[in-house]
Amino acid sequence: MNVPVERDVERVAAEQSGTAESLAADLASISLYLHVPFCHTRCHYCDFNTYAGMLGHRESYVAALAQEIQLAGMRARQSNGSPRRCRTVFFGGGTPSLLSPEQVDSLLHATRQAFALDDAAEITLEANPGTLEKGRLDALRALGVNRLSMGAQSFDRDLLRWMGRIHSPEEIETAFAAARKAGFTSINLDFIFALPGQSLATWAETLERAIDLGPEHLSLYSLIVEEGTPLFSWVREGTVHPADDDAAADMYEHAMTRLAAAGYGQYEISNWARAGHECRHNLTYWGNLPYIGLGAGAHSYFGGHRFAEERPIARYISRVRQSVAEGNTTADMLPAGAIAEDEAIPPELEMAETAMVGLRLNAGISRSRFAARYGRTFEQVFDERLADVREVRLIETAGDYIRLTEHGRLLGNEVFARLLPDSPEVPEAPTRVAG
Ligand code: SF4
Repeated sequence: MNVPVERDVERVAAEQSGTAESLAADLASISLYLHVPFCHTRCHYCDFNTYAGMLGHRESYVAALAQEIQLAGMRARQSNGSPRRCRTVFFGGGTPSLLSPEQVDSLLHATRQAFALDDAAEITLEANPGTLEKGRLDALRALGVNRLSMGAQSFDRDLLRWMGRIHSPEEIETAFAAARKAGFTSINLDFIFALPGQSLATWAETLERAIDLGPEHLSLYSLIVEEGTPLFSWVREGTVHPADDDAAADMYEHAMTRLAAAGYGQYEISNWARAGHECRHNLTYWGNLPYIGLGAGAHSYFGGHRFAEERPIARYISRVRQSVAEGNTTADMLPAGAIAEDEAIPPELEMAETAMVGLRLNAGISRSRFAARYGRTFEQVFDERLADVREVRLIETAGDYIRLTEHGRLLGNEVFARLLPDSPEVPEAPTRVAG
């Protein structure tokens, strides 16, 4: 298909981040993230909280996670005692496709008991193409999972091997076909570019094979060398040389052009979708709206706090058991059972974070929604800090929206860094590369 993408920015933005009118409902509901910290092996670039060689702990982990969901539902209930509305559920990892359908079922059952889950909730499960077969996919679809996110990463056999992936290019195609047969009509494929030794031609070939499959959604991430990974050591030793910035920019620009021509709308710095298939769960993050993350190492943003759970599996399980035994269910507690870190977010920081994550969206930030949320206009808070990047056209105003320009999308960090004048740290939206 070769259809130029022309979309009404304000219409898409309203669909993606909500109008000012829907703000109260968005702030009163949550998205739920459930972390599954198991993988067959560790990929060489991965720094997620996930463990190889611990599959035997799945049953006790899932039991603890189901208990924590119940606890979270009680603690997050509304002031009138009714369960809190949940708009999306996301099974992330790790490799959630390593759970049995029965284990996924028990977690969804706990979710439906603990929260008021929308009938039309988006329920996503991340999957490694090497762990999907027809029977499992049929069962997941029957349980209500309605979106699959597959960590494809590349169609280049050598690069897959270099990354330590457990699947081949053919297995991506086989798993995709099986998912379609099982009835999945919303499938995301994740890819990584700017890999060492990757040429623009190899990247272009991967994109063509992805487009040929016809997924509804594509997430494309530039390789990040994370501390503590084998890749980090190789780069430090000089045995691996990451792609340079110019090569990465060429690959990114090629993707923007090619995917637009193939009918995909880019709606976020790293994400493209067919109309109506934008990831609603991730839009919660980019809208800086409340979400509850449960499971080892999961993060949440709820009640004006950001918090993180215990990372080691055994410690997570014992902390949840302890919380359940203590019966901590008062509504003023943070809705998790194994909190390791807790940070209250003051209003100034919250506004900066809202601006930072919102500017990742192509549509940008709705000025009316920002003003309705904070009682101050975006311009009152940020105009002075952003004067120079507006001057060189990294950001622009389009109707109700403030957004990065196309050039600004390549230099987003220049803009984000100015939003937090007192801190050099630029928090990342918790967008992720799937396992
Ligand atoms: S990249 Fe995905 S599959 Fe690989 S180790 Fe990390 S979470 Fe597991």
